[in-house]
Amino acid sequence: MADTALMPIPGQVDPVPVARDITPRADGRVDLLGLPKAQIRALLAEAGLDEKQAKLRAKQVFHWIYHRGVTDFEAMTDIAKTMRPWLAERFVIGRPEVVEAQHSVDGTRKWLLRTADGHDFEMVFIPDADRGTLCVSSQVGCTLNCRFCHTGTMKLVRNLTAGEIVGQVMLARDALGEWPKGSMAGLEESEDAGHYSSDGRLLTNIVMMGMGEPLYNFDNVKGALQIVMDGDGLALSKRRITLSTSGVVPMMARCGEEIGVNLAVSLHATNKEIRDEIVPLNKKYGIEELLEACAAYPGASNARRITFEYVMLKGKNDSDDHARELVELIRRYKLPAKVNLIPFNPWPGAAYDTSTPERVKRFSEIVFEAGISAPVRTPRGRDIDAACGQLKTAAERKSRAERDREAAGVAAA
Ligand code: SAH
Ligand code: SF4
Repeated sequence: MADTALMPIPGQVDPVPVARDITPRADGRVDLLGLPKAQIRALLAEAGLDEKQAKLRAKQVFHWIYHRGVTDFEAMTDIAKTMRPWLAERFVIGRPEVVEAQHSVDGTRKWLLRTADGHDFEMVFIPDADRGTLCVSSQVGCTLNCRFCHTGTMKLVRNLTAGEIVGQVMLARDALGEWPKGSMAGLEESEDAGHYSSDGRLLTNIVMMGMGEPLYNFDNVKGALQIVMDGDGLALSKRRITLSTSGVVPMMARCGEEIGVNLAVSLHATNKEIRDEIVPLNKKYGIEELLEACAAYPGASNARRITFEYVMLKGKNDSDDHARELVELIRRYKLPAKVNLIPFNPWPGAAYDTSTPERVKRFSEIVFEAGISAPVRTPRGRDIDAACGQLKTAAERKSRAERDREAAGVAAA
C-alpha cells in the first residue's frame, strides 16, 4: 500500500484510498500509460522540450503507445535516435503485471493482474463467433455489496487509475497479438491511419462489467475510455463499449454526456422490497429515480437501447409475475430497452441458487411476447470463475457484519 494517497471519490459515501493521477515510481520515472495526450505534452515541456517539440513528440509517442502497442522508446523509429534514451530516462510505458492467465474450456480467458502497489484485480476475454468482448475492471473490490455478487464480498481496496483501466485493454491486445506489424511509414500513408476498423480483430467490444462500480470511479473510467475511443488512441467506436452500473443515479447523465457509451443497468428486481435486499444501493437510489434517469439517458434511442441486466435467482425474482412487472416498468417509463437475463453464477457461500432453465425460459418468453428483446446470457468461463459476478481476488474479505453495516451506510448516506 505504498503508493496510495487519500482522496475522496465523487459520489462515494466515505473517502477511500485511491491512487494519485501519476503514481510515483521508485526510479522517479513517469508512466505515460493512461495519460491524455495534452498531459504527455505538458510533461515533455516540463522536462525541457520547447512547445513545438513537445507537441510533436507527444503526438508521436501517443501514436506508438496506442496504435502500435510499443512499450520501448527505442522502437519509436520516427523519433530521433538521440531523443529515445532521453525519453527512456524520464518515462516508461507500463502494463499491469500479469500474475496468472487462465483458459476456460469454452475459450474464455481470465487474467489475474496486479497494480504497481500490489493490489490484485481481474479481466476476462470472451470470444464469440461474431465478436470478442473484453470485460474490464474499474475498482479493486467494490463498496456496494450486491448480495449475489462475489466481488461485493471484497473490501473496496481502491479505484483503478486510468492507466490501470486502459492497461487492461493494452494487455489483452498484447496477449491476442493484435498490434499492427510493419513500418510506421506505411501506417501513416494508409487511408486508415488513426481509424482502425474492428474488422478481423479478436477484441472488438469492451464492457465495463468487471470488478467494481464504474460510476464510483468516474474520472478514471472516463479518462481511460476517452483514450480507448480516441481515433489517435485505440480507436474503438463508442457503440462497441458498454458501461454497466448498479444504479448510481447522480452520475448517469454525466456518463451519457461526457463518455457517451452504451448503458447497461443492473436492475435485477421489479419492486423495492426485493431490490433493497439484493442491490442495497436501491435504498439510496430507488427504482423510480433509476428508471427516470434511464429515460433521460443522453443518446438512448430505439437504435441504441439501454440494457437492463436481470440476474435470475431461484424463488427470489424469477416468477411470471416478476416478468410481467418488468414489462410494465419498461412501458411505464417508455424506455428504449432490452433485457439481458443472466442465470445466477454460483460461488462458495452465496445465499442464492440459479433459477431452473425452464423458469429462465418462461421468464424470457413473457418479456419477449411483450415486444422486448430478452436473451438469456449463456454463462461463460464458469470453470475458471470468470463468469459475471464470480470475480474476486485474494484481497481482504468483508465480514458479514461489515457488509450489513456498509449496506445500511449506503442507505443512510
Ligand atoms: N458494478 C457494475 C458492473 C459489474 S457487474 C454493476 O453492478 O452493474 C456485471 C453484471 O454481473 C451486473 O449486472 C451484476 O449485477 C452481475 N452479477 C454480479 N454477480 C453475479 C452472479 N453471481 N451471477 C450473475 N450475474 C452477476
Ligand atoms: Fe459491485 Fe456490481 Fe458486484 Fe454490485 S454487482 S457488488 S455494484 S461489482
